Amino acid sequence: MPEQGTDIRSWEEGVLNCLQWEEYFHMSVETVVILGAGQAGAWAARTLRSEGFSGRVILIGAEAALPYERPPLSKEQLQRTPPAMQYLLSTAELGSLDIEWRRSSQCVRIDRTSRNVVLTSGEAIAYDKLVLCTGGRARLPAIPGINASCVHTLRTIEDAERLRLTLNDGARVLVMGGGWIGLEAAAAACAAGCSVTLVETGPLLCTRTGSPMLSDFLAKLHRSNGVELRFGESVVALEHSTATSSRAVYADRTIQDVDIVVVGIGLEQNDALARAAGLECDRGILVDQQCRTSDRSIFAAGDVAAIRSPSGEVLRLESWQNAQDQGIAAARALLGHDIDYQPVPVFWSQQYEVLVQIAGACVQGTNTVTRGAEGGKLIAVELTDDGRIASAICANSPRDFRHLRNFIAEGVCVDVARLADASVPITAAIASRAS
Ligand SMILES: Cc1cc2nc3c(=O)[nH]c(=O)nc-3n(C[C@H](O)[C@H](O)[C@H](O)COP(=O)(O)OP(=O)(O)OC[C@H]3O[C@@H](n4cnc5c(N)ncnc54)[C@H](O)[C@@H]3O)c2cc1C
Repeated sequence: MPEQGTDIRSWEEGVLNCLQWEEYFHMSVETVVILGAGQAGAWAARTLRSEGFSGRVILIGAEAALPYERPPLSKEQLQRTPPAMQYLLSTAELGSLDIEWRRSSQCVRIDRTSRNVVLTSGEAIAYDKLVLCTGGRARLPAIPGINASCVHTLRTIEDAERLRLTLNDGARVLVMGGGWIGLEAAAAACAAGCSVTLVETGPLLCTRTGSPMLSDFLAKLHRSNGVELRFGESVVALEHSTATSSRAVYADRTIQDVDIVVVGIGLEQNDALARAAGLECDRGILVDQQCRTSDRSIFAAGDVAAIRSPSGEVLRLESWQNAQDQGIAAARALLGHDIDYQPVPVFWSQQYEVLVQIAGACVQGTNTVTRGAEGGKLIAVELTDDGRIASAICANSPRDFRHLRNFIAEGVCVDVARLADASVPITAAIASRAS
């Protein structure tokens, strides 16, 4: 308010000048907009600051919650009394890092000509550089009855909370999909005292890893915990006679009464905005090793980014490690650092008392060496023809996993006999290192 006696016009002009100055200030500093305030987006924002970027950082996210990591959603957040969620960036950190966090803000359009992102409210936010970290959403099968309230997916805090509240002792849970999220949900439902059936259309669990050995290991683990596994079958409809009574109809027309359905059949990447804006996409936003899209002002990272190698191969990773590392890499690349992002794929899962860890690209081959597949442990290593490690799968063997992961990154060649001998330390299995 103007002080008493102040000329109202000069006060208004002053306010106007301030506004113009603020606008000028914002226009004159570089603005990085990060779209998607999940794991990759949060790491990109934090990295811009830790690398000394002093311009504006605007982090736009459709969710209301502070940025968080998703792995706990299908694990400890499904426990009867879940631990408090840990956030990737607290309100205090967002403030101290001067990150402008726009929560509950859905972007509906990217205007590459005027370099704006447009929100549902119609507000346009200008960028100099844009980082797309829009992740993905849970896929749903196109079957009748899929939209009923007893059907659950797991992608957000709200999803986990909603499912947790229904996992009551004795509830009949049907899990559709034998991938990681389906298996973790099955384990959580068992722990809550539910009776669990898991249906998988293919012949293996975690099909994308392509490892029958891992599939067998996981199948034994789940069966020993009471999960009924149905392979080679599919649910073609869900019938709901009342809000609490549902039936799953299988392709062979058998019927199963269920209380809760959890769908874990994979992810659909959120690349529609990028496609509409004319960015090159191929089941994800195509990026190079510098995390650059086909528009040099736009970068992408995390689940939505598909890395195209110079030889044309496309790799899109859906993992905690990649979301963090690629978010960091994109921010550094955007600031002009020389980045060559060629990740070794890494993934982990926790089911019952078992920690499963995977590194490298699993390809079904004959060159598989195993070691110590007893006592709940598993180490399966796939070798290339020249004796290097292509991939490693470990269960409850975190120390060996760390070594194997490094061996992959370093291109180490191993001695097969030593590798197979569990009495030999895994580090003693190295035959030679890449020169
Ligand atoms: C239940 C679950 C368990 C998992 N467990 C493991 C595990 O054990 N190990 C492992 O390695 N990985 C695990 N993952 C995978 C890992 O969590 C993901 O790879 C990671 O979260 C990807 O991060 P992201 O930032 O790319 O995407 P997300 O975390 O999906 O973040 C994307 C964000 O962008 C927002 N967004 C999308 N479109 C828009 C828009 N138009 N406007 C504004 N905002 C938008 C979304 O709302 C979301 O908040 C798990 C994933 C899930 C869902």
